[in-house]
Amino acid sequence: EGVETVIIGRPNVGKSTLMNLLSGYQKSIVTNIPGTTRDVVEESVNIGDVVLRLADTAGIRETDDIIEKAGVERTFDRLMSADLVLAVFDSSSPLSDMDYTLIDKIKEMPTVAIINKSDLIANIDKKDIYNNFKHIVEISAATQTGVEDLNLAINEVL
Ligand code: GDP
Ligand code: MG
Repeated sequence: EGVETVIIGRPNVGKSTLMNLLSGYQKSIVTNIPGTTRDVVEESVNIGDVVLRLADTAGIRETDDIIEKAGVERTFDRLMSADLVLAVFDSSSPLSDMDYTLIDKIKEMPTVAIINKSDLIANIDKKDIYNNFKHIVEISAATQTGVEDLNLAINEVL
């Protein structure tokens, strides 16, 4: 039961912080060491009238480590079968090649593009996000700013 929702993005953009914020308690491991969320953490949450089955995924990045590569592949497989994508970007750093790869994969899917870390000085070219997505929110998962906009955007997409 529920809308299969995948939280995806580069390591360290704030996926687990967002997962914890939406699910209301500390479950996903938040750390500034990229690649910590090895296994997918799942949680059901109510957003307005809908139930989301949220999956916090390991960060997607270019790597030579075959174990990590396999993890990235699994994340992309899961992504393609999702009902809803929460694509997280870090406003404090420029978009990477992996971000552009991700944008390409999901731009036709039901997606909310989340520009996180809005509490920090912006260092991102937002136009690549605004050009590719219809539903975009700027939030700070750490300071819990913009969550209401995110909830509205999720309900609009579904
Ligand atoms: P993940 O690898 O994408 O799951 O990222 P995490 O949720 O583990 O967060 C990585 C780091 O970014 C942690 O140190 C978080 O505290 C920090 N972080 C997450 N969201 C924000 C935010 O909105 N603003 C700031 N300044 N830091 C954040
Ligand atoms: Mg994480």
